[in-house]
Amino acid sequence: MQLPLSQKVLSIEEPLTIGMSRRSRELNQQGIQVINLSLGEPDFDTPEPIKQAAIEAIQNNFSHYTAVSGYLELRQAICEKFKRDNNLHFTPDQIVVSTGAKQSIANAYIALLNPGDEVIIPAPYWVTYAEFLKLIDAKPVIVQTSIDNNFKLSAEELEKHITPKTKLIIFSSPSNPTGSVYSQQELAEWAKVLEKYPQIYVISDEIYEHINYVGKHYSLAQFESISERVIIINGVSKGYAMTGWRGGILAGPKWLAQACDKIQGQFTSATCSITQKAMHKAMEIDIETYVKPMVRTFQKRRDLVLNHLKDIKGIRANNPDGAFYVFADVTNLFGKRYKDKVIQSGTDLCFYLLDEARVSLVPGAAFGNDNYIRISYATSEELLEKAMNQIKSAIEKLQ
Ligand code: PLP
Repeated sequence: MQLPLSQKVLSIEEPLTIGMSRRSRELNQQGIQVINLSLGEPDFDTPEPIKQAAIEAIQNNFSHYTAVSGYLELRQAICEKFKRDNNLHFTPDQIVVSTGAKQSIANAYIALLNPGDEVIIPAPYWVTYAEFLKLIDAKPVIVQTSIDNNFKLSAEELEKHITPKTKLIIFSSPSNPTGSVYSQQELAEWAKVLEKYPQIYVISDEIYEHINYVGKHYSLAQFESISERVIIINGVSKGYAMTGWRGGILAGPKWLAQACDKIQGQFTSATCSITQKAMHKAMEIDIETYVKPMVRTFQKRRDLVLNHLKDIKGIRANNPDGAFYVFADVTNLFGKRYKDKVIQSGTDLCFYLLDEARVSLVPGAAFGNDNYIRISYATSEELLEKAMNQIKSAIEKLQ
């Protein structure tokens, strides 16, 4: 007999991709090879100097608990990174290192939000932003954007959704799942609106900072009039191909960092000491040498996918400026069928493409809008080429 679970845990949705993963496994068991374009992580190896730093840390017995927020020299190196890359000036007591950007977001939510507080989330959004709010009884206010404005929320639209209960706005740039990147001008317009609402905080998720094809990364924290209310989330998972190491970064006001330290001290304490040494090295290695080659490869793959999509009738994509995803509008395929399968949503199309194209994607429903599908190009050009050809043939069968 199973005793009842808590209402909180029951309120959290299981990832929408679970059904698709099951179907992928079934096909694999039948000996049918499925190409996986649903991945949310770089397929590259962690750069060599970072691995060496971790090996040295093990050999030097750097194996004890550290300060909950991360050891001091690491936090100093993170401050240097913010100065060098973003012209932002933090002190180590404003930095909390965690077990991943995900934990950093959870820390900030718990530190700031009370039941009933509203959190504005531009959609499409990374699903954790909304799901975690259920655990603390705060209320997501989802604001849709569309492919026609590059999935970016205008300052005007943002302001329309602000109420006396709004406490927080959370967004990512570059974005998962759309790859959109907010420009300096667009962020300046947001800042102007936010100047009028001193009770509102912003979580700016910059985990894809380095995977940016338009050049410079801008952070909302660069606008002095609101910088004290902007909490930056970053980490090593995406830019340094370190998803498994579990290293996240929060930078914000000192009082918030202290609160996050207190929360994290009860949940996990510091992240792994060896990971911290690896993160320390990541903060110091030459981005041009170790990160940019990965970014250039991602850009080539993006162009490959976009070129193929141009030839596929019924799928409409924009030109994503960052991250490693294409978020494509598939509404023109709705109502079409093949045998007994009718496409009415992004989810239907993903199941269809899994069966008929042997390609695994993520439905837009996982990000708050099922008119879309997400294609991850964090895989080799050879596999991408094959997958896109298979998708094209399967779509051509729809009538
Ligand atoms: N933020 C966004 C937008 C992401 O896409 C992801 C991972 O997919 C994360 C945060 C989580 O990163 P981490 O591995 O550091 O927890």
